Parts: sequence; structure tokens; C-alpha cells
Amino acid sequence: MAEPLESDSSLLVVILDVNPGSWARSALPLDKALQQMVIFINAYLALNTENRLVVLGASPRECRFLYPAPGGGAPTHDVQVYEQFRAVDARVLSGVAAMVEDAAGDDAGHSLMSRALSMALCHIRRISASVMTKVWPRILVLSAGSDSAREYISLMNSIFAAEKMSVLVDVCKVVAQDSVFLQQAAEITGGNYVRVDTPANESLLQTLMFTCLADHYTRGILNAPSNELIDFRATCFCHRRVVDIGFVCSVCLSIFCQMAPVCSTCQTKFTFKVARAGKGRASGEPPAAVAAAATAAGTPSAAMSSLNLS
Ligand SMILES: [Zn+2]
Ligand SMILES: [Zn+2]
Repeated sequence: MAEPLESDSSLLVVILDVNPGSWARSALPLDKALQQMVIFINAYLALNTENRLVVLGASPRECRFLYPAPGGGAPTHDVQVYEQFRAVDARVLSGVAAMVEDAAGDDAGHSLMSRALSMALCHIRRISASVMTKVWPRILVLSAGSDSAREYISLMNSIFAAEKMSVLVDVCKVVAQDSVFLQQAAEITGGNYVRVDTPANESLLQTLMFTCLADHYTRGILNAPSNELIDFRATCFCHRRVVDIGFVCSVCLSIFCQMAPVCSTCQTKFTFKVARAGKGRASGEPPAAVAAAATAAGTPSAAMSSLNLS
């Protein structure tokens, strides 16, 4: 695996959560956040004339490429970088305004984050394959919404794909509630997870500049903000509920909140030999923590084991 050089350029995919309902509940209005995001994007473009930019909008209804315009192909290199600032600003602001208008009335929904991440990864793949020089890809998610448990599986698949592709995922979360899934995205891919609590005017811009602007090379020198309190809990595949203790199929690694005789994902059959209470477990632990030694018929390696996820 090649090490990043100081002269290498970056490919940044910005995913903007434009769910009007989420922003209405946050202390920072969407238009103020956008103004600061646009300044950040301009700073990123100014860092290296070879830097590439993609901006994606995600609403509860759709995901849309805001920059470059759809069908416009790979972003072109503009010698006059200030001209590019103008084009980016205009396209992002008008694109977000159009998406907000279309999404009006979908206040209760969650933005399609997993779809946006998949689109970002596909785009990164396409650009990386089409350029001769090495570009270091990363994704920045600006999110104001809460997690959607329904998205857990697809989101985790995207996160592991990003990790395999060496794509850093930075997450900037506006409003007080943390996003469990996006925290894991940042942690697994080596990106930064930052939360903007104070609605005070420029705090979003300051946070973005300090934590998300540095490229792969510079991050090797800087001390990243530590994420000590990450919630690593998973969502069960059966009810899409966040679980503290889950049961994991040893064949396909699906997570369930209850023991089941058959894995609903890969159809593996288990035979249970439940360990006696008190044998090999700490007293006071809930009964669900009793380890189930199970073997599937014909496949001795298959078992459903309990896993403490907290
Ligand atoms: Zn369940
Ligand atoms: Zn399974």
C-alpha cells in the first residue's frame, strides 16, 4: 500500500444531509450551515489545484449529484480556480434549494445516507480508475438527522467497502444527538467524527477547518481528535433494533436479538446445547448472555454465539 505524498491530490466527496425536518429541529439553520460549508469547500479547492470535488445531496426521498452536474462527466480542471469557486457555490446552493423544495412534507423521514455513501463510493471508484496520478479519496458527511435502524445493514456494508478502498469518512454531526452508525463509519475508516453543539455563528466552519480539511499526508502528522466514547452497538437483523447483547451466526455473521433455530439470512440450521446457568458466566448477567454452544447439522463449524456489543 503506497504512502501518501505531500504533492498528492485529493478527491473529496461531500454528502450533505438536506432533510428539511432534521434541520428544522437543529439550532443551526440549513442556510447558515451551507454558507459555512461552501467556504470550507473553497478552502479545500484552494489547497491544491489538482484537488477534485464531488457534492452529493441526500434527502428522505432521493440522492442527487449537486456538483459536478449530472452527465457532466469527471470534474474538469479549471486553471482559474476562482471561477471554479463561483461555479461550485452556485451549483451547490441552487441544487440544495431545489432538493429542499422537493423534499418538503417528508419531515418525518430519514435522509438516505446509505444510498448516498454507496453513490459516493461508486463515483470514487470510477474517478480513481480513470486518472493516471494517485488521488487520495475521502468522504465528508454533514448530517443533522438521526439514525435509521432500517439502514444499518446497507450502511455497514458501505462502511466496510470504504475501509477496503482506503476511503476516509469524516463525519460532522450538527445537533446534540450522536449518530451511532456514522460514529462507526468514521472510526472504522480512520476518519474524524466531530459534533457541532453550539449554534454560534462560525463554529461549524471552525470545526470543519480544523478537523476535516487536512489531506491524507497531513493527517499523518496531525493529532486527530480522539473519539473515546463511541457507541459500537449493532442493530439486529430481525427487528432492526439497537442491541446491547446479540447472537451472531458464525456462517454469515448476521446479528440477532434472540436465539433462533435457523439463521434467517443464510438458512443455516443450528442445534442448541445451552450452557447451564452459572457455568462460565458471571453472576448478575442477564439470562440472554448465557452462551449458546450450537452446532449446525452437517457443518460442525456453524454456531450461533452471543456477543456483547456494548
Ligand atoms: Zn431482533
Ligand atoms: Zn447465517
